[in-house]
Amino acid sequence: MADSNTSYDAIIIGAGVIGAAVGFELSKRGYKTLNIDKNPAAGYGSTSNSCAVIRVHYSTIPGTALAYESYFDWRDWAKYLDAEDERGLAEFHETGCLVMKTESNGFLEKICANVEALNIPFEHWDAKQVVAALPAYDMRKYAPAKRMDEEGFAEPTGGEVAGAVMFPNAGYISDPQLATHNLQRAAEARGGEFLFNRSVVAIPQKDGHVTGVELDDGTSISAPVVVNVAGPHSYIINEMAGALGDMNISTKALRQEVVHVPSPEGMDFETNGFVISDSDIACYCRPETGNHILVGSEDPECDGHEYVDPDSFNQDFSDQWTVQAYRMAQRIPSLGIPSKMRGVVDLYDVSDDWIPIYDKSSVGGYYMAIGTSGNQFKNASVAGAIMAELIGYCEGGKDHDTDPMTYDLKRVSHPLDVSAFSRRREINKDSSFSVLG
Ligand SMILES: Cc1cc2nc3c(=O)[nH]c(=O)nc-3n(C[C@H](O)[C@H](O)[C@H](O)COP(=O)(O)OP(=O)(O)OC[C@H]3O[C@@H](n4cnc5c(N)ncnc54)[C@H](O)[C@@H]3O)c2cc1C
Repeated sequence: MADSNTSYDAIIIGAGVIGAAVGFELSKRGYKTLNIDKNPAAGYGSTSNSCAVIRVHYSTIPGTALAYESYFDWRDWAKYLDAEDERGLAEFHETGCLVMKTESNGFLEKICANVEALNIPFEHWDAKQVVAALPAYDMRKYAPAKRMDEEGFAEPTGGEVAGAVMFPNAGYISDPQLATHNLQRAAEARGGEFLFNRSVVAIPQKDGHVTGVELDDGTSISAPVVVNVAGPHSYIINEMAGALGDMNISTKALRQEVVHVPSPEGMDFETNGFVISDSDIACYCRPETGNHILVGSEDPECDGHEYVDPDSFNQDFSDQWTVQAYRMAQRIPSLGIPSKMRGVVDLYDVSDDWIPIYDKSSVGGYYMAIGTSGNQFKNASVAGAIMAELIGYCEGGKDHDTDPMTYDLKRVSHPLDVSAFSRRREINKDSSFSVLG
């Protein structure tokens, strides 16, 4: 149990899926680690409400390579953890992910080039194949996505979606909190420690270098390395550390609503469905337990962006729930919209270009794995490994800002230039600027 007399090699602020993975990967490398979280258990922050979609297609090559490398850890989760969890292991439902070809995603030409470059399997489907797999689907086009109060809402705009691409190496984790608990147990098996129900309130420094953290109960814990993995609170922790000065990319908390609706009569989406990204209606969906369909927004312009204070935001559903459910019903006309709203309201920690920051900082010994922008649950294992390597690289005397570290993605056979995730990068214009990353 951590107390003021204990010192650690590294303190990780946060025990969400990324924070727990950083703790695990550092403890695997022999660091004495402490994850601190103000919540009562691991994965109780934004991770707990993650849709936990695992997919391999991204807008950039580094994003795609990172996702594919991480996929292998979900596929062999028990082997990756190499540790027991009394609660059992999280399950990867490898359903595949179908992505509609639309004007707004350039009919997936760039995405297909990215996956092809990395030898990631995919198949082209025409509209008939989509309807054969999903008989309840109506392929009429509705783009551009609209809100309910806009003229033309729910009116087809002419023609049909031409087809889609199926990525078989994809699916979802049904219990993201359990996956995080698994990582906690794996870290603990290597000597990692976790402290819950305590907030970090200060990050003391000496000669430009962190010396540890101070907690809300007055405890001080020392460590030469502190890692900000505070999710939607990331900018608050960066402010606390005085690390904002040289950052070119900022992070903010963005409110999101996710809809759960029952599958229509005769449709067993839970058994036969898959992850579907449909930019024509600007929604993504996946099977949810109880034969429900989980529906998220793909952040079209009409949905607006509600940036909030992560300690005080509206946790009730709003019109956004209804608009997402109705947009899904454009594709599945037999979908019933229940009067009782079900789903989740939570926060993304969004960066300016919706690409994460996995980096050092201007403060000695202070690192950050933040800006996960609603799309990094899937990358937790490799993000954790990159952070652990980066900490070794920088603490060993290298300057990642001027001499960027390369991380070898072994299963993808791709050397990843980690400066793609730098806090000082220019905004990446190749990004989708949405949850798609
Ligand atoms: C609705 C929703 C849907 C999503 N869907 C997907 C998806 O389908 N696929 C995907 O890959 N990603 C998805 N994501 C994103 C993914 O869930 C996140 O990127 C990931 O969970 C972030 O993990 P984390 O550990 O960085 O943050 P969090 O889980 O938010 O953990 C941060 C922790 O820091 C703690 N903390 C903050 N401040 C302090 C402090 N001062 N002291 C102590 N502790 C502190 C918090 O209590 C919290 O537990 C989704 C996210 C949301 C919200």
